[in-house]
Amino acid sequence: MSKRTKIVATIGPSCSEGEVLKSMIKEGVNVFRVNFSHGSHQDHIDAIKKIRLLDKELGTHSAILADLQGPKIRIGDMPKEGLLLENNQEFILTTLEDHNFSSAAQIFIDRIPKDVKVGEKVLLDDGKIHLEVLETNLKDTVKTKVVAGGLLFSKKGLNLPDTNINISSLTKKDKADLVIALEHEVDWIGFSFVRSAREVIELRHLINSNNGNAKIIAKIEKPEAVTDLEGILSETDAVMVARGDLGVEIPLESVPLIQKRIVALAQDLAKPVIIATQMMESMMDNITPNRAEVNDVANAVMDGADAVMLSGETSVGKHPIEVIKIMSRIINEVEINYSNIYVRETLPKKNNERFITDSICFNVCRLAQRVEAKAIITMTHSGYTAYKISSQRPKSEIFVFSSNEKLLSTLSLVWGVSSFYYDKTISTDHTIADIKNLLKEKGYAESGDLIINTASIPLGENGKTNMLKLSYID
Ligand code: PGA
Ligand code: MN
Repeated sequence: MSKRTKIVATIGPSCSEGEVLKSMIKEGVNVFRVNFSHGSHQDHIDAIKKIRLLDKELGTHSAILADLQGPKIRIGDMPKEGLLLENNQEFILTTLEDHNFSSAAQIFIDRIPKDVKVGEKVLLDDGKIHLEVLETNLKDTVKTKVVAGGLLFSKKGLNLPDTNINISSLTKKDKADLVIALEHEVDWIGFSFVRSAREVIELRHLINSNNGNAKIIAKIEKPEAVTDLEGILSETDAVMVARGDLGVEIPLESVPLIQKRIVALAQDLAKPVIIATQMMESMMDNITPNRAEVNDVANAVMDGADAVMLSGETSVGKHPIEVIKIMSRIINEVEINYSNIYVRETLPKKNNERFITDSICFNVCRLAQRVEAKAIITMTHSGYTAYKISSQRPKSEIFVFSSNEKLLSTLSLVWGVSSFYYDKTISTDHTIADIKNLLKEKGYAESGDLIINTASIPLGENGKTNMLKLSYID
């Protein structure tokens, strides 16, 4: 059985070669993240094309996640050796073009929110440096004092944890990037710094008006998003615990419990959840991770995450293939030996338009557990049953058969799901027999294995799942 928890790897210069990408897929990557915070449109398009070609060659269905930058503010260029900010020093932040250089007295930043107020905190480089606002002209320049200094390097991020920013989290750049991402049919869109359920709805409208069908991953990295967690989760298709920015925007010691809360809630709602950032950070340079990182990955799997993510480790790190190998080993070890991640039941709700389907999914998992079924097989066009069944975390494998090619790659993010192309619609009996033969031929099942099929009858109408069948592989 292949690992159930999925791996998301970020694309970048360290893995732009086809051979490297190929090894990464073979070692366990399920989702590639194209990060619109860095690189050119052409870089992203080239990467997407390479991955789709590799999928054809390998018979895989890698998902592609286009991650929008959101309203992230970045500083300009610094001297190579870094710029030392001393405690209590006064310091100007400015967006004026002719100051697009940095000196001991001022730093260029690419945007200043109009809502910054005197006394608020400004954090640089993931909170390593801490400034306080002394004055603002509400336009292009903010005067600050250094509260906790340090060495500052080029292009680092800037966070304003105290500031109530009064503009949409979707910037002009995000909207332009979204058009490119949808043109190249990515499966998932990462929504950075989302603050409310209403913003998720806004992004969905934008996707629809571009005739796209990509799904949304809400990245939880703002205090407002933590406050509106239930609302955001009910609107989004998936969620990411974006610990990098989250741990700067809110006290970092509150991140571990928020991670657990998000995972539990996402599972209840059958929405995939990704744990992200610094999971194997030391492997940017080193050939093995440190012990705390191994524990972090293992704990994310134990929490019940659908996927764990790598950022710099694969995009600019020295060991993009080795890091996947080690991550896969950690995941496998937990999945084989820690039974608490399996069998999480969420009772289907009555008076819900999906009550019949939800009840089938619920009982499929119960039955699978009872008879120790080898696999659960679902035929789906929308993917609904795949998300539902996965969220109950059955021990049995989950095989999804669909003629919707896009769905096959989209579902690669989802815990425990393996997907296969299938487009014959003769009859339900024929399809079940045919699929069982296919699984046997391909080595996914053998004679005597018990399997459970779900389907909607009559077949071919793309109706809602309303039946289950338990049988042996001949
Ligand atoms: P990023 O998101 O890498 O796009 O910033 C993840 C995070 O903030 O943790
Ligand atoms: Mn972030």
